[in-house]
Amino acid sequence: MIEQQYDIKEVERIFKLQREPANLQAMKDTSAKERIDRIAKIERYILDPANQEALAKAMWYDLRKSKEETLATEIIPILTLLVHIKRKLKSWMRPHKVGTPLALTGISSYIRYEPKGHVLLIAPWNYPFQLSIIPLIHAIAAGNVAIVKPSEISAATSAFTKKMIQELFPEEEVAVIEGDVPVATALLEKPFHHIFFTGSPAVGKIVMAAAAKNLTSVTLELGGKSPCVIDETVDIKNVAGQVAWGKLLNNGQTCIAPDYLLVHKSKKQAFIDAFQEWVQKHYNHNGEGIRQSPYYTRIINERNFARVQGLVDEAVSAGAQLISAEAFDESDKFIPPCLLDQVDMDMRIMQEEIFGPVLPILTFDRIEEVPAIIDRLPKPLAMYIMSKKRHHQQYLLDHSTAGGTAINELMITTLNPELPFGGVNNSGIGKSNGKHSFIEFSNERGVMQRRFLDLKMIFPPYKTTIFEWMMRAARW
Ligand code: NAD
Repeated sequence: MIEQQYDIKEVERIFKLQREPANLQAMKDTSAKERIDRIAKIERYILDPANQEALAKAMWYDLRKSKEETLATEIIPILTLLVHIKRKLKSWMRPHKVGTPLALTGISSYIRYEPKGHVLLIAPWNYPFQLSIIPLIHAIAAGNVAIVKPSEISAATSAFTKKMIQELFPEEEVAVIEGDVPVATALLEKPFHHIFFTGSPAVGKIVMAAAAKNLTSVTLELGGKSPCVIDETVDIKNVAGQVAWGKLLNNGQTCIAPDYLLVHKSKKQAFIDAFQEWVQKHYNHNGEGIRQSPYYTRIINERNFARVQGLVDEAVSAGAQLISAEAFDESDKFIPPCLLDQVDMDMRIMQEEIFGPVLPILTFDRIEEVPAIIDRLPKPLAMYIMSKKRHHQQYLLDHSTAGGTAINELMITTLNPELPFGGVNNSGIGKSNGKHSFIEFSNERGVMQRRFLDLKMIFPPYKTTIFEWMMRAARW
């Protein structure tokens, strides 16, 4: 275990330093090229094989995550985003001309994108590097000065992140402050211009309440129970593999992992069989057991192990049937892939985000039953629709709400930076990714400029004819 000493005084010192008007102005004044140059430093750093090795080591330490998965889930998403930002940033930064109503003849209008200024980025432990760095890249793209507060729970990766930022940026531009709740609380007391928080809905509420004291704007990227609906039209073997991959990636500790399954009754048993077969083939390929697989990530810590085990135990004692090939092992923070059959909505496992490799199964007869089940829980971050029937896909889209949705695909929605990413209410507030993040980190300043004519004609004493003309023009 990494013993951390956090220095709460750093909060005061770095906040004050970064808040110097000259430092904020210097970042605000940067051109697209200068911002891209800064972002490219991160790119060079993560492309260096020695740094990739160091990150992989940290991720193995924190989550027992393989190097391949580290590349796939921590590095590649950043690289994909960088290409997009390099291509688009200049056009995003350009003032955006908009039309002006006829009644305002003589005026032109445009939107100017200004940085919010001084931003705080708080990250969780589950994808600890990319969930610190992707918001940072967007914050820099929009011209902000930033403090990053990574999670104290993924301490090795947070230390890697801090070292990288210290090497690449002067602290008046970007600084990492590591810390636990007292440090986060001290940061939240500061009047930042924006807070971008990724984490649980429970802490999201704390963040929003603290931000309200300073009327600081927030983006909250939260979690929740994301459903995966499987109807009777699918190739169940294929779909079971897709779901197993999505659920077991990072050991189920993914905000957009399918949290629970809604499967057509006629496909349930085939799903269970195919899921188990897939697990054996992919995590027990050499026959030594899933536990021995170098690709099977672990639960982050003892507290989360106990939390997930508690959810499963409670469900089983209330009548759920546990289907799992291997035993739980607390000493290794190992929870095997688990399916839970015979669950009902009153069980705690159907009310809390699971965030582990456990998939409860509910069934339905008719697609029309599905929205009411999903509706019993807060609006999800993601929803997955596995169906070959256009009518079913459309029906579910029309009768539900979710932050994002993938049809016949899982998990990868975040990889298209053209699409907004984020939740709805309990699963999040605000959207991120590409231009959506650029706007989130910007103040959209509306500017009107008088070109000709003036308003003298509407000054008192009034001429009725002018107002009659304006009435007509207003409806043009
Ligand atoms: P968390 O909310 O416990 O912690 C997130 C961050 O908040 C950490 O940096 C932590 O130090 C800080 N924090 C914790 N308690 C705090 C408090 N009382 N006051 C101020 N700050 C506090 O979340 P987690 O356990 O690290 O991550 C798991 C959660 O994050 C899940 O709910 C998951 O769905 C969600 N998540 C969402 C996304 C997304 O993009 N929507 C991505 C990853 C994770």
